[in-house]
Amino acid sequence: MCSIPLTDDTMDLLEKIKSLSAAYSDQIVDVRRYIHANPELSYQEFNTAKYVASQLRSYGIEPTEGIATTGLIAEIKGKNPGKKTVALRADMDALPIHEANNVAYKSKNPGVMHACGHDVHTSSLLGTAKILNELKDHFEGTIRFLFQPGEEKNPGGASYMIRDGALENPRPASIIGQHVFPLLPAGKIGFREGMYMASCDELYLKVIGKGGHGAAPDLCIDPIVIASHIIIALQQVISRNASPKQPTVLTFGKISGEGATNIIPNEVNIAGTFRAMNEEWRASALQKITKMAESIAEGMGGKCEVEISRGYPYLENNPELTRKIRNAAVQYVGADNVVDIDITLGAEDFSYYSQVIPASFYRLGTRNETKGITSYVHTPTFDIDEDALKIGPGLMAWMALTELQH
Ligand SMILES: [Zn+2]
Ligand SMILES: [Zn+2]
Repeated sequence: MCSIPLTDDTMDLLEKIKSLSAAYSDQIVDVRRYIHANPELSYQEFNTAKYVASQLRSYGIEPTEGIATTGLIAEIKGKNPGKKTVALRADMDALPIHEANNVAYKSKNPGVMHACGHDVHTSSLLGTAKILNELKDHFEGTIRFLFQPGEEKNPGGASYMIRDGALENPRPASIIGQHVFPLLPAGKIGFREGMYMASCDELYLKVIGKGGHGAAPDLCIDPIVIASHIIIALQQVISRNASPKQPTVLTFGKISGEGATNIIPNEVNIAGTFRAMNEEWRASALQKITKMAESIAEGMGGKCEVEISRGYPYLENNPELTRKIRNAAVQYVGADNVVDIDITLGAEDFSYYSQVIPASFYRLGTRNETKGITSYVHTPTFDIDEDALKIGPGLMAWMALTELQH
């Protein structure tokens, strides 16, 4: 049984969540606007963390601060708190983008903007905590709230949260995370079982040759030509070695050789991203990429130094948990408003949690064409239809209680 049967008691609980959600809705929007206007970059979320802590205290919840430096953890214990623990997660960092929206809550920090909706995730989770704290006599188990730093920057704040014990004492049975989705209208919620988002590693290749006059290539080792061969050859790792059933991508978005029309440079630098949805393939592909780049350069008389900045693992949405919270969403917003979404080769550090315990990451629709809210995340005009915040907090509260019951 995946969803809570809607008995009189649970109907009552569902209605209680909905009425608390409606009562707090304006306040949650104000919290979102405050965080939006005061964005901080990854691992610098000092004031945001203080603000989150003060909000939690104002609800009567005492958080533990300083987890992963600027992260926080809080718990709400229901009756019989040892029965089961469920974790809920929000991220708090903003991006190095200058906001172009002309809104009352526009970023007051020039060059920094909540352009990925982490202000929404944080305020929504605060709303969830406020709601559940009022209902703690009505459920059994413990709900743990994770407010993490640094989702946007390697190695990912989630990895530090785990290092600092966010998934211990006791280990939660599962973890649920939400992300805004500008492709989905506000009011809709999107789910995907199984593989959902990609691992993401950064590749930095330095091709070293021997520079000289462009008219005398015989006296040089031309790193531009070597780099060209490497770029073309590495695409074969994807097309000839990866299983066609596994999505994977290799893109080089930067190449620089500081020569001129008649100057062969000493070296060429190439930078790119490698993405995959299978950890075994990821490990073997990174080895193949390194070996191929090194040996092509060597075969052509030069050298290639390969540096890999390892990013987040791929994100697996636990099927059973995803079905459970999807059913909870059907009960909360109606079947018409629950949709299946496709995989994406974007990356998200929530994936670290999914490597440790059953995890599910779903999407909160935030688009509204009639209000002109259509910009994608990571753009200077990104914004959300705040009507999504009428749903987000209560929905996650209902999901958590559904998960605690089984
Ligand atoms: Zn982002
Ligand atoms: Zn994000």
